[in-house]
Parts: sequence; structure tokens; C-alpha cells
Amino acid sequence: MGRSAAIQLAQKGANIVIVSRSTQKLEAAIKLIQAAAIDPSKQRFHYISADLTNPDDADRILDETIKWNNGVELDAVWCCAGYCHPGYFIDVPIQTLRDQMDTVVGAYYVEWTESFIIPRHLIFTASTVSFFTVTGYSPYSPPKAAIRNLSDVLVQEIEMYNGARRNKDANAPATDVKIHIVFPMGISSPGFENEQKLKPALTHIMEEADKPQTPDEVAAIAIKGLEKGDFQIITNMVGQVMRTSSLGISLRNSLFLDTVASWFTSIVCLFLISDFMGKVFNFVTTMAISETNYGLVRKAAGVAPFEGIPVPTLPDDYLLIRVVIVAVNPTDWTTLDAPGDDGTLEGCDWAGTIEEIGPKVEKAFMIGDRVAGFAHGVLCVPDNVPWEAAASVPCAIGTMGLGLFKFLSIPFPGFESIKSSEANQDDNKTILIYGGSTATGTIAIQFAKLLELYGITGEKYIFEGKHWETQPRYFEFAKKFFPIVEKLWGEGKWTEHPREVRPGGLFGVLDGGTTGVLVATRLAKADPNLSILILEHGPNTRDNPLVVNPAFYLMNIAPDSPRVSFYKSRPSKDLAGRESIIPTGRCLGGGSSINFMVYSRPQAIDFDAWNVPGWSSKDIIPMFKKYENFQVTDPAIDTSVHGYDGEFSVSSGTNAQPAFQKDFFKACSNVGISTTADVQSFHSANAVGKFNMWIDRETGLRQDVAHCLLFPLLDQGNTGLQVATDVSVNRILFNANKKATGVEYTISGTKPAVVKARRLVVLASGALGSPQVLERSGVGDKNLLLKLGIQVISDLPGVGSNYQDHNVIFYPYKSSDGVEETIHGVVGMDWTV
Ligand SMILES: Cc1cc2nc3c(=O)[nH]c(=O)nc-3n(C[C@H](O)[C@H](O)[C@H](O)COP(=O)(O)OP(=O)(O)OC[C@H]3O[C@@H](n4cnc5c(N)ncnc54)[C@H](O)[C@@H]3O)c2cc1C
Repeated sequence: MGRSAAIQLAQKGANIVIVSRSTQKLEAAIKLIQAAAIDPSKQRFHYISADLTNPDDADRILDETIKWNNGVELDAVWCCAGYCHPGYFIDVPIQTLRDQMDTVVGAYYVEWTESFIIPRHLIFTASTVSFFTVTGYSPYSPPKAAIRNLSDVLVQEIEMYNGARRNKDANAPATDVKIHIVFPMGISSPGFENEQKLKPALTHIMEEADKPQTPDEVAAIAIKGLEKGDFQIITNMVGQVMRTSSLGISLRNSLFLDTVASWFTSIVCLFLISDFMGKVFNFVTTMAISETNYGLVRKAAGVAPFEGIPVPTLPDDYLLIRVVIVAVNPTDWTTLDAPGDDGTLEGCDWAGTIEEIGPKVEKAFMIGDRVAGFAHGVLCVPDNVPWEAAASVPCAIGTMGLGLFKFLSIPFPGFESIKSSEANQDDNKTILIYGGSTATGTIAIQFAKLLELYGITGEKYIFEGKHWETQPRYFEFAKKFFPIVEKLWGEGKWTEHPREVRPGGLFGVLDGGTTGVLVATRLAKADPNLSILILEHGPNTRDNPLVVNPAFYLMNIAPDSPRVSFYKSRPSKDLAGRESIIPTGRCLGGGSSINFMVYSRPQAIDFDAWNVPGWSSKDIIPMFKKYENFQVTDPAIDTSVHGYDGEFSVSSGTNAQPAFQKDFFKACSNVGISTTADVQSFHSANAVGKFNMWIDRETGLRQDVAHCLLFPLLDQGNTGLQVATDVSVNRILFNANKKATGVEYTISGTKPAVVKARRLVVLASGALGSPQVLERSGVGDKNLLLKLGIQVISDLPGVGSNYQDHNVIFYPYKSSDGVEETIHGVVGMDWTV
């Protein structure tokens, strides 16, 4: 609309400056505006690229505009910035709600405060949602209502200045300052198309009366209203009804007409209130089937746009269900990526309400019943089960049912056994649940408990040498056991796998690397009642052979390893222009689970040089002893600096290359460097010796924090510690007092979610990860954060700077020693360089 207004004003002879973030868009727009000029020889046009949510940019716009206008103040400033992100309040991330405030109100504040002394006309652009909002505009209508409020309050403030002018103060400019505010409804623009896609179906229904106008139409009506001198400018009849229904203290465009219209519309609104509330209340249950139905339709591998699809015609023995929510099932993303299957509708697991019942449906369903299912099966959902929980289980229940009740022929609890010709009745009550932490496995465990069994089978089942999974031909069977699920569900005997934290609130949130796990497990051990959550970016590492077996250590930093993140430095002139590649741990256990296991302690003087009370080597060395189970027995070693009953074993490793070592120490001695028995004694600088390793002498296993501290604690139980892997922390959330209150995180492919911490948040994302989280949270260099549009919580320029590291360079040598002296010999792989 801003562009259309500028073009039409150019046609009326105005000089114009336009402001936007994108130079490309500005260049294109200014050409159109120039072309529309009625007198190109006299009219002047200019554009400024700026971000109006950034107060610093406003000074620049102001200076530049006045300079461009030969030092003369502007006649009018028209504020058009803003975009609409519709959605239900509960679905929209807090950051988006903030962005809406920032772009809609923030930009106006900036435009307004900076232009305050200048214009004869200050024009705001709000929306009819400022008066009259509907469901689905919770992110957008509050800032728009704020703009309306701002216009009202400024009308009063402005009177002070107008008063000065009318009193003919010699210094006061002759013309009064006037405020105007335009309230368009839908404007057909690219932004509007995007908005329409995001809009909940209910919003589309609620605003049926809003027929979008073109930007040119809206701009023309707005300019006409401005020419008439109207304060509130409405662009269509429906908008007039909305405006006059809530005039309040706002200036009237016409005292008589506005007053009469407001009597009329206050009556109309009485009916509208019940109409709107009814529409919302009945939306999910009794609404007639909408003509428009939407779905994610696969078009090609990896492409599934959200588009209109026909409402299915109902076969006699089918139910027509309005889907309220779809849970992502692995089928969905594998179907999306796999070749073939174009035209498939994504969304296997779902929950919704019954719209229509085919005449041959035998079960006693009723229209409006809450149901959930996958592909063919349907189960009833009790009122106390939320939609999200209902949608997350159907396919898993089907899979579990096939394993337990069909193939193993275990009787349903409280129901007669369904025997299958393929099934073996097994009297042994112990079954193995393989993959027990998966959705299916969790449900299987719960059923095993109900059946008084201990343990069960996996999601993939091998029977008579064949590999079985849920397949359409078993759906008939699945349908048979759904009634039992409904029964148990209704009785509250069976619950969804709990994801929420324990009662009492969350104590803290940490990252799952070396430091995070250490702190979390120490705290959890100290007090099992503390609720502690570890959110780890990378995958689980438990019992992964590439992690626990030291010989595979290099595999973890292979380019395709899922347990590492690589960072690239800027080119360095000291490295002949090369960029260093820096690997860091990205998995449960962090660096400790993928590093080279070299046991390396600092020198005592490193601590003493700090000269900070509580951090001297005397204070710190006991901590080093606490975690250590030192297994090296060389009598030349001072045992007083080592610990012998900690959780981490330290040994000289189970693999040695004595011939290489001997040669190396001899070479050192030849050049005058002495050898020490213990390079980790805190006092052994300026000598060489054999590094010990984070490896247990007996088991030969890596000693990482995940396997030495975390998993044993989780296995032992009685802990408030919970771990979530493959979860990325986006940022830390702060309250108004700048106290960390939780974190915003993302699970791949999902919308950001929030977890609150009652007591504290510990950020331990590593030397390269932590600064990123801090900066995204608003803690860092103010100039950088503002440029990136991040709200500044604390201006700390050092965050993200001054990184220092030690380089490792691997020299490959050809050796005449035997293959058993090399890693090659240990793992039997060809690592020839
Ligand atoms: C290849 C390699 C070899 C090494 N060899 C040795 C050695 O032999 N001896 C030695 O003493 N040291 C070695 N190190 C260094 C040592 O492992 C690290 O210094 C140490 O692990 C750092 O611990 P940390 O807790 O600071 O960070 P990390 O252990 O790196 O933990 C940070 C954790 O935070 C997670 N994270 C980051 N961002 C996010 C986010 N946004 N959301 C959620 N989680 C996030 C990461 O995935 C990671 O798990 C090596 C390191 C590497 C990478």
C-alpha cells in the first residue's frame, strides 16, 4: 500500500522519500514512483534503506531526509511499516509475538519520535483489527490496537503545540500538526498471500465479510480521506461498522454521522458477539463441512506444498473426520523423501472429530465424537486426553498390538484371547522389549505392565524367519484391539509417555557436553529431588562402539560423523592464507565422548597465577583427585596428587607402541630434554613423558562423562535428572529483571518450544557453542546484536571474541616397525594417507 500511495501522491505533484530495508525493492519502487510524476522537471524523489525497528536508523533517516530537502522540514510522514503473522496465541512462538510488536509498534515509535517536530501531517496505518478483532489475530491485533491508542493519545498531546501556534508565537510555524490514522482491511499483496496461508481455518471463516481490496484502491481511499482531513480513515463499509462500534474518546470525522452510526452499530454488535462466540465454540464440533479442505500433498521427492484438496466423498462404511491435529510419524518424512508416491497426502497419525457417519458403519459413533487413528483404524478419545497426546499414539498402538496380541497371541487384558494361526502361545512371561524408548516401545512397556509381563519385542518383528512390520493387511486386526485401548484410556490406566518435568518445577537446564553432564550429575546426586533437564544438540552416545572403543577415536571426527560439529576459522596469514578447521563434540558427553582421550592436567602455577581466592592450586587439586581412579602403578609417581576412588579411570591405555616411544624419548634426551614419570603431577613442565589416557585399564573403554557419570546415574534411578538429545537450544529466556527463566529450544523440523527453569539455567555449550547461544539470547556486543535485530539484554562485547586454541598437526610416517605397532594393526583398517 505504501508504494501505491507514493505513486498516487507523485501523480498529485508531491516530492517523495521512501524508506525500506531492501535496496532492491526500493530501487524498483522509486522507478515506478518517478514515472508517475506529473511534473518530472520539478518533482524530486529519494529512497533510504533502513530498518525502522532499529532506533539508531531513525536518526540517520531524519538527517538524510532534511538534508535532501534542502534543510526544509517535511509536510507529511506516512507510517506504513508492519506485517501480519496470524495464528493462535498458543501456537505462535514468543519471539514472533515480540517481532510483531517490534515491527508494527516499534517501527511506528521510531518513525513518530524522530519525525515529531517536523510534519504537518503524521499518518499512521493500523487495521480494522484495532477495533474489532477475531480469533487467529492474537499476534497482530494487540500491536495494531496499540497504534490506534497511540494516535488517540497523540491527538491530545499535539494540541499543546497547536495551541502555541494558534497563539501566534513568532517562532511557531503557521500550520497546525494533524494526526491521521488509516484502518484498511485485507489488502491483496504478496504479504497478504503469505498471511492467508498461515491463517487458521477458523479465521478464514470468521472474516468471511472481509473482501480484500487492491493496494491502489486502499491508497486512493486513504488519500481522499486525508484530503478531507479525516482523523480515522476507513476503506470500506464493513470497516465503518467496526469503527463506529468503538469510537470511545477518538476524534469524530463527522459529529452527527458518527454518533448516529455508533448507536446503530452498538446494537449490531450485541448480535455479533454471540455470533462470533458461537462460531468459535462450535468450530471443532458441529460446524458444517467447509468447502475448502487443505493438506500437505506430495508433488515430488522432498516437495509437499500445503494446498486445497477436495473433501473426500464418503463410502457407506466409512467415517468422515475433520482432522484437528496431525502428529509427525516416520512414515511421513520417509514418504516425502522416497521416490514415487506423488499425490500422497502426508499425515499418518491424526486426531479429530467425526463430521459424518456412513450408513453402514456398525459401531455406535456420534457426530462430534473425538477420535484418533492412523490410515484405517479409529479409536475414541476421552475428553481428558489432549489432542496432541491423542494424535501421537495410534500407529504406535497398532504396531505394538500386532507384536503382542497377534504374533505372540497374548490375551488382551480383560478380553478373550485372539488366536492367530501364525502365533505361538508362549507361557514364558519374560519378553524382551527391544527399542523400548521409542514411541512404540514405550507403549509396549505400558501394556507389558498391564499384562504383568516384564519386557517385550521390538517395532520390527522376525517371525518364522520373515521380517514383519505393520502393513495394510493387518489393519483389520488392529481395529479389533482398539476398543481395549479406549477402555484403558478412559479408565486412566494407560497414559502417554510423560514428557513434562516432575512436580515442583524445573531446577535447571544444561547442555549435554562434558561440563554440562558433570555439573548436572553432581547436582542430581547431591539431591535426587532436584528436577534437572539436560538438552543436548547431538545424538545419544550410549554404548556406541565408535565412542566407547578408543581405537575408533578418529572415526568420530570423520566428515560425515553425526557426533561432531566443524567450525572454520578466517584465513590466517600465519598459515599461508589457510583456514583452520576446528572440530567440537556434538553428542551426549560432548568432547569427552569423541576426543583423543589424552589425560592432560594443567600446571599448579596456571591456577596460582590467577591469584583469586578459592581458585588456587591448593583449592583445585582436591577436585582433580575427586573424579580420578588412577590406575598407573609406577613407583616413581607421587601418589599424593592422584585420586583412587573417582568415577573416571585413568591408565596408560591398553595399546602401546613401545618401539616408537623408546626412540622418541631417546631423541629428546639427546637434545637435553629430560623424561618424567608423571606429566600430570601439576609440576612437571619442561620435561617429556608418556601421556596417560582416559581409558580404563581393565575394560579398555573410553572414560567419557556420559558413560562414567550420566548413564550409571540414570540406570540407578531415584534421580530427578532427565535428558533430551537431538534438541537444539536456540536461546536463553530472561525476565524483566534479566534473570534467566528458561530456554527456547527446537527439535529438528518443529516449531520452537520453551522449557521454564524455576531456579537456574546452566549454559555449557562449549567454547564455540556458548557464545552463539548467548548472542542469540541478547548477551553480547550491542552493535552486532542490533544489526541482527536481537533485543539486547546485556552489552558484553567480549562474547564471541578472542578464541584461542592449540593446533594439532598429524604427520604420517612410513615405519619399518610391525603392523601391531600402529592403529592400522589394531582396527584392521587401511588408513593410508
Ligand atoms: C577431536 C577432539 C579431540 C580432543 N582431544 C582431547 C584430548 O585428547 N584431551 C583433552 O583433554 N581434550 C581434548 N579435546 C578437548 C576436550 O574434549 C574439550 O575441551 C572439552 O570436551 C570441552 O568441554 P565443554 O564442556 O566445554 O564443551 P563440550 O564437551 O564440547 O560440550 C558442549 C556441548 O554442548 C552442545 N551444544 C552446543 N550448542 C548447543 C545448542 N545450541 N543446544 C544444545 N546443545 C548444544 C554440544 O553438542 C556439546 O555436546 C579434544 C576435542 C576434540 C573436539
